Amino acid sequence: MLSVSEARERILSVFLPVESQTVSLNRASGRVLARDIVAETDLPLFDNSSVDGFALHSVDFVSPRTLNVLADIRAGETSETPIQPGQSARIMTGASLPPGAEAVVMVENTDFNVRTSGTPAPQTVTIHKSVQPGENIRRRGEDLHSGDKVLSAGMRLRAQEIGLLAMLGMAEVSVYRQPRFALLSNGDELLPVEAPLAPGKIHESNSYVLAALAEARGVELIRLGIAADTEADVRSWLEQAVEAKADVIVSSAGVSVGAFDYVKSVIEEDGELDFWKVNMRPGKPLAFGKYNGVPFFGLPGNPVSAFVGFEVFVRPALEKLSGLELRPRPHQMACLTEPLESDGRESYLRAVVSQENGRLVARLTGHQGSGNIFSLVRANALLIVPSGVKSLPANSDVEIWPIA
Ligand code: AMP
Ligand code: MG
Repeated sequence: MLSVSEARERILSVFLPVESQTVSLNRASGRVLARDIVAETDLPLFDNSSVDGFALHSVDFVSPRTLNVLADIRAGETSETPIQPGQSARIMTGASLPPGAEAVVMVENTDFNVRTSGTPAPQTVTIHKSVQPGENIRRRGEDLHSGDKVLSAGMRLRAQEIGLLAMLGMAEVSVYRQPRFALLSNGDELLPVEAPLAPGKIHESNSYVLAALAEARGVELIRLGIAADTEADVRSWLEQAVEAKADVIVSSAGVSVGAFDYVKSVIEEDGELDFWKVNMRPGKPLAFGKYNGVPFFGLPGNPVSAFVGFEVFVRPALEKLSGLELRPRPHQMACLTEPLESDGRESYLRAVVSQENGRLVARLTGHQGSGNIFSLVRANALLIVPSGVKSLPANSDVEIWPIA
């Protein structure tokens, strides 16, 4: 039986980032940057005022002083007339600083504290408050310089990166294509959520869980459907995934050794089965391989096992496929409130983690059966018991993974 980390290594070695594409900036939020971004301009682009006020020559920094107002510079305009001693220009926030000006005094500190729309500039202005050199000036390049590498390939673009790209005048950006993520459910007992129940049947839920997890990471979802427990049906759905050019197929159930578990045998016949048992709990029966060249995950059928299987194996693979720079998963240490028994397999338990008396503590959310989704709903973290550990006393430090 493989360890979790061996299985993850083997899985990751199969995936390469998808190709890149150019998208317009207004479609780029949440996408993964495919090329480093080097600034081609300084930001700010030019020296400008950070307030509404009056631009001053350096000899006029000490107040009180009355100056002639020779120009009125609005945002979006420039004035080429140099400011001489004894002169000033009214200037608006974001307007380009005129030559000769070395500071800006705010309107609040002058006798012309008028900002009603449309008020023309005065002939003269009296300054009440001294200013420091450079006061209220945003210098060209103080944020970043032309030639600086400002964003790295492999990062997911957030609102602030989109804003930066816009400020740099980049209307288009090179991002990785969204991976095509095909989802299949298996089982004669499964009915679509909109179908009325019948005796012995249940509503299929794994595809909703897995779709939600995958879509939150920016995939193009291919919802295959529910395969009946026959080889022919499993094969025909997998064929559809191949036709749809899936980059990865994620299937749940039908991978253990039940009399009607056909997923494994279909993968063995039409592809390659890499392994099918991982030393973990929940979720020991886990198949990984390729179906006609497409990487394939056969997750366990129990809803909590399928969730954990995604978090432990599919998520890092999807990150690599998406072009994201690979980073260890963010985790924390928390203190167990009660003793805990395990069976020696690496275990992912549902827990609530909270701050108590200045430290993080973890409490299990009750019954840990792998079909019980409600205890997962109540959890905000997975608590990891390392392999080989069969019991942990209260107050032990344990690793936890926050779950969104
Ligand atoms: P299996 O791996 O096929 O033996 O399924 C294990 C358990 O998971 C059974 O109780 C199934 O009914 C349940 N199960 C399998 N697939 C799903 C699904 N898509 N949604 C909800 N439960 C499922
Ligand atoms: Mg089944």
